[in-house]
Amino acid sequence: MEIKKTIQETRECVKAWREKGLSVGLVPTMGYLHEGHGSLVTKAKQENDRVVVSIFVNPMQFGPNEDLASYPRDIEKDRAFCEKLGADLIFHPEPEEMYTSGFCSYVDMSVLTEELCGLSRPVHFRGVCTVVSKLFHIVQPDRAYFGQKDAQQLAIIKRMVLDLNMDLEVVGCPIVREEDGLAKSSRNTYLNTEERKAALVLSRAVRLGEKMVSDGEKDASVLLAAMKAEIEKEPLARIDYVKAVDGLTMQPKDMVEASMLVAMAVYIGKTRLIDNFICE
Ligand code: AMP
Repeated sequence: MEIKKTIQETRECVKAWREKGLSVGLVPTMGYLHEGHGSLVTKAKQENDRVVVSIFVNPMQFGPNEDLASYPRDIEKDRAFCEKLGADLIFHPEPEEMYTSGFCSYVDMSVLTEELCGLSRPVHFRGVCTVVSKLFHIVQPDRAYFGQKDAQQLAIIKRMVLDLNMDLEVVGCPIVREEDGLAKSSRNTYLNTEERKAALVLSRAVRLGEKMVSDGEKDASVLLAAMKAEIEKEPLARIDYVKAVDGLTMQPKDMVEASMLVAMAVYIGKTRLIDNFICE
């Protein structure tokens, strides 16, 4: 497995595979990889002849007061992790490679990006859509893999691919959790021991919500109030949002129904964590 830092080298490698008639899967990440990313790579391996993992902490998707500088990075550990899972290539560009001087083209979506995380992170999805479409152009994969952990991102990428006629399949993969329920995230490393315990309030609220839905709760406001009350029991937690939305359009829903997304963002100390579930 090789690490390529330039767009040209990555393109040459993919072109050689294509000439042999091989299919290509892409797993876009920001690195500091864990089993959540690993599940995407494994699925991509099962469904494609070759797998590219991109590792790029994309400056464009961070707001001015967010954690771009402190975002954890460990390319050597990531290399070993990808190698073990059988990835074929890591694309690991510097920001200057992705955003050359004078860069001024963006993929800007409305509607889906204006809810949930889009409210507290106004530039985030413009950065995500722009970098992901660049990655799609560079690698030209048959399939690209995204986690349900970032449910809004997954819905947005699916919509972008549909709207802009991008010729690939977007594959969603289930949330991978720690044994105690916390959704795996590179940002979990920010948590101290006390905060790590407090962070379990997110998965507790998810389980409570899932149980209420399976017990037949139909009123989304009752569901959300109970989940919020559960989170508010934790003194270190501060709710950004807990919302019920349509799983495709991200528009708020009053009544519980199949494929509805119940999503939350909660600060534990200074760390903003997200979690969600989809109603069966
Ligand atoms: P990130 O490196 O955080 O940008 O994540 C890269 C990809 O991995 C995104 O599609 C995420 O949704 C996915 N991912 C991150 N954490 C998890 C997890 N715990 N379970 C499943 N997918 C995940």
